[in-house]
Amino acid sequence: MMLTSSVYDAEPIPEAARSEIDRMLRSGDLFRYTAPEDAPVTLLEQEFAAMMGTRYALAVSSCSAALFLSLKALGLPRDARVLIPGFTFAAVPSSVVHADCVPVLCEVGPDYRIDIDDFAARLTEDISAVIVSHMRGHTSDMDAIMQLADAEGIPVIEDAAHSLGTTWNGCKIGTIGRAGCFSFQSYKLVNAGEGGILVTDDADMVARAVIMSGAYEHNWAKHFTAPDPALDAAFARWQNQLPLYNLRMGNLSAAIIRPQLSEVPRRVHDGRANHDHVAALLDTSPWLSVPDKLLPEERAPDSIQFNLVDMNDHEARSFAEAAAARGVKVQVFGLSTDNARAFWNWHFIPGGVPDLPRTRAMLMRACDVRLPARLDRDELDTVAGTLLAAVSDVMGEPLRAYGT
Ligand SMILES: *Cc1c(COP(=O)(O)O)cnc(C)c1O
Repeated sequence: MMLTSSVYDAEPIPEAARSEIDRMLRSGDLFRYTAPEDAPVTLLEQEFAAMMGTRYALAVSSCSAALFLSLKALGLPRDARVLIPGFTFAAVPSSVVHADCVPVLCEVGPDYRIDIDDFAARLTEDISAVIVSHMRGHTSDMDAIMQLADAEGIPVIEDAAHSLGTTWNGCKIGTIGRAGCFSFQSYKLVNAGEGGILVTDDADMVARAVIMSGAYEHNWAKHFTAPDPALDAAFARWQNQLPLYNLRMGNLSAAIIRPQLSEVPRRVHDGRANHDHVAALLDTSPWLSVPDKLLPEERAPDSIQFNLVDMNDHEARSFAEAAAARGVKVQVFGLSTDNARAFWNWHFIPGGVPDLPRTRAMLMRACDVRLPARLDRDELDTVAGTLLAAVSDVMGEPLRAYGT
């Protein structure tokens, strides 16, 4: 079969969103603080917190906003150093810079996960907070990271933008650190075009984040309805003490997100099955390698990453071109121009970008292919077959390469 470009389209928004949006269009009730209670954004926060098993959730305009507010809510001083992985989306170092902090990068291994030895070494360099970015949903060793950070009393924020539905030792990713941040941008598991949400069990942190997200005057009282003395005390402590950044979510976005939450388990199940099916096919080639997940991890992928083995730059580029000519878009993170996931393009980092030779080597051979959960087996076989054919275009038949 031939793939059409529509295989990469997002899933349709559930029909249930339509009547709620119609109601809002008639009433004009689009702002989260207009209604005295039960605004769609507030209901989304309650439902999301229940789904994740956290005490609090705060819906905001993006995951980047959630990361920024998490850092601000920690009350870090200006120029505090925040340790982040060298492989992540530019939004992560950007949120650190936006919070008047300084990103410190650590190495990431060929399996796309934080290099724990390098992380441990850099954690001693006057670090005030850590953002763990589970890039493309690849979970770093959270046991090691939490143990190292807890020993130093350093708070951990989880960038779980691409990890909704992923678990680590049965714990939901995004609930292991002090706060977790998720995205509802169109390329994530739940799509509202834009949007983000922060989850935490920390009353003081969520009170600060709520106020700074734009809960002016006493609008924070519309967020959480259950009796909660610790939270009341925190709001009383921070009233009028913090600047407002106005990063709120609107009711329309919440109405688009809420009916998708019940679809998350299906999307996670299908996305994982799709990924593993394609991974097994790609691994039959000596030129391609799909890194194994870590043992405690159950993933929720909507894309696949794999490494090119024993190819030079020219061959790697030719492979991406051959796949594109055959109808599958492959991004080699380090070889595409101005890639936002290649750390050497983050020229806005104070003090300049560091040298991370291992992360750089990984990025020069790591490929990224979208694999939406709704693809069927024929489409998956076509994606895998196309990638294998593109390898043969460039490297010849694998059997010949092995001299048999
Ligand atoms: C998408 C993404 C973000 C940013 O999310 P926005 O909602 O677009 O701000 C941050 N980190 C990772 C790993 C992402 O994939």
